[in-house]
Amino acid sequence: AASPVTITVTGGAGQIGYQLLFRIAAGDMLGAEQPVRLRILEVQQALPALEGVVMELHDAAFPLLASVDTTADAAVAFEGADHALLVGARPRGKGMERGDLLAANGAIFAAQGRAIQERASERIRITVTGNPANTNALIAAAAAPDVPRERFSALTRLDHNRALAQLAARTGTPVGDIRRMIVWGNHSATQVPDVTHALVGGEPAIDLVDREWVKGEFVPTVANRGAAIIEARGASSAASAASATVDHVRSWVQGTPADDWTSMSVVSRGEYGVPEGLVSSFPVTCSDGRWSIVDGLAVDADVRAQLDASVAELAAERDAVRELGYL
Ligand code: NDP
Repeated sequence: AASPVTITVTGGAGQIGYQLLFRIAAGDMLGAEQPVRLRILEVQQALPALEGVVMELHDAAFPLLASVDTTADAAVAFEGADHALLVGARPRGKGMERGDLLAANGAIFAAQGRAIQERASERIRITVTGNPANTNALIAAAAAPDVPRERFSALTRLDHNRALAQLAARTGTPVGDIRRMIVWGNHSATQVPDVTHALVGGEPAIDLVDREWVKGEFVPTVANRGAAIIEARGASSAASAASATVDHVRSWVQGTPADDWTSMSVVSRGEYGVPEGLVSSFPVTCSDGRWSIVDGLAVDADVRAQLDASVAELAAERDAVRELGYL
């Protein structure tokens, strides 16, 4: 049998963690043949609650779960880590300004970046789910200069999946028949869901839906879906965010299908006019554990304008954390 892969998950006592850990242990992320070691990082005061989650992980008797350890020490958490899933983040409190949020998370993600650089395995791949995810990934990467840039990523797969679901519903097609969806930019309300290259059952999506629907309904519904779920459920989306995190890592490691791509936030080298160094969402294909940005796509004029606005937001976040000394 394969030797276990070490997966470090931060914020494991949180809502997303409660879904994510069980999906990983079940083999949904790395496959039914791959044993996993879970290493869970939490803040000190959440460790007692995390013990309950660990008891449930044991009680699920997952054949692939080789071990579960918990700690409040990042140096211990990332020791030998092959995957770092950075879920824990400081939520925006009442009356908290964006600058306060960036500062609180800057401290968390810089410390974790340093621990990753010092402790993680050579194979380390980092996925940031905790918000503001793109900028948190940028901070972690800056704190780990010896780790190759392409190992850092942030989650926009949930936005991608939400876009698939909306287009599927509109066209009365199963999601599995839709290919080449794109989400560009920041994981925020400025994100840019783009159907202009999407195929529905092999047919161009733009032949099946009108521009009015795309602009007036599709884009805002996808971009504001998080708020709609909070409104309906009284709590933010957790199961779908965990599921998207599993999808993101699975695509990265196991590859994307030959005739399709996915959306991932990765460090720009200037592709599609996104300034070098920003962590932005792009269409990517993955194979052999590496991603590459799909190149040569024509960018629709509406998409271009929205992407420029989203990139401006990313640049403003970068400038703010630079001012705080994290870059
Ligand atoms: P959740 O598990 O619901 O969310 C965790 C993070 O994921 C948040 O930053 C959240 O952002 C983000 N997120 C990304 N996409 C989504 C989405 N679609 N829906 C909801 N959230 C999304 O938060 P909890 O408060 O339940 O749990 C966080 C845990 O992290 C706590 O147990 C806390 O103790 C821990 N933590 C651990 C740290 C560490 O290990 N060093 C540091 C900080 C916190 P948003 O806030 O925008 O919803």
